[in-house]
Amino acid sequence: MQPILSVSHLDKIYPENFQALYDINLEINKGEVFALLGPNGSGKTTLINCICGINNPTRGTILCNGFNIVSEYKQARASIALVPQELCTDAYETVWATVNFSRGLFGKPPNPELIEKILRDLSLWEKKDARTMTLSGGMKRRVMIAKALSHEPQVLFLDEPTAGVDVELRRGMWDMVGELKSRGVTVILTTHYIEEAEIMADKIAIIRQGKILLVKDKSQLMQQLGKKQLKLLLQHPLTEIPLALSKQPLELTGDGRALIYTFDTQHGNTGIAQLMRQLDEQGVDFKDLHSNESSLEDIFVDLIRSKS
Ligand code: ADP
Ligand code: MG
Repeated sequence: MQPILSVSHLDKIYPENFQALYDINLEINKGEVFALLGPNGSGKTTLINCICGINNPTRGTILCNGFNIVSEYKQARASIALVPQELCTDAYETVWATVNFSRGLFGKPPNPELIEKILRDLSLWEKKDARTMTLSGGMKRRVMIAKALSHEPQVLFLDEPTAGVDVELRRGMWDMVGELKSRGVTVILTTHYIEEAEIMADKIAIIRQGKILLVKDKSQLMQQLGKKQLKLLLQHPLTEIPLALSKQPLELTGDGRALIYTFDTQHGNTGIAQLMRQLDEQGVDFKDLHSNESSLEDIFVDLIRSKS
């Protein structure tokens, strides 16, 4: 299946030579909820803005729905909607007019039933005739989401959707993302909260200082959180993990030269002694052993450290 969004070799250098993104490569599938997780200043907004055509990429290619976002920007952008990090609404317009106008901007025919549904879903229906400047911050954010949804995007970008919003709205946001996903909409969101990525995302990319550190399925990532890895460099490469060891939490590296053993640091028994015995019985010799420095735990600790 062709990814709905593909970013390859993207660099972004701001004026005065500040490089905000380094060789970003990402593929996102249709219907996926993809979280870009990273501390403030790591480049999340820059990346999203490059994809949505607000920033010009310095190098690299971005395809959305197969269309190049620079040379075929009209087609590419037709399927995208962005809810930016900063709130910006037309202060004097009513909620209804703001959302309705937004649909028109994308050249879509009027659809009052759809606008009504969106406003009801976001609990804004009662406020449809209120001027947006009279709304609370949380409601303004919902108006921005309503604007984005008004033209029925296939790909929705939410830049820090829950930064500075109250608990109730945060929950509502999570539900909304789930509902969009069930309708086949691809959602790409940024956050600096690990828990939030955990709740909403199918896939998580960790970004730091303009570089993507890893991209993983959430389930895999969460399994590995709080765990440590031991890397055993083998004397002789293996083509597969011996059957007798198949129950162990072992992974063979692509080149067959190392085994990675993942264990729980919280757990009293690491299982390492038993692993060593089994390796010995199977005649698997290793020449070196070290604790993997790029374990996820370390990455998260680093992330949190650089936040402060
Ligand atoms: P995040 O959204 O992850 O907090 P940003 O993408 O906003 O990060 O910023 C990434 C880096 O790029 C930061 O160091 C920021 O100061 C810098 N930056 C962002 N916008 C500009 C700009 N318009 N000109 C120069 N530097 C910028
Ligand atoms: Mg940002």
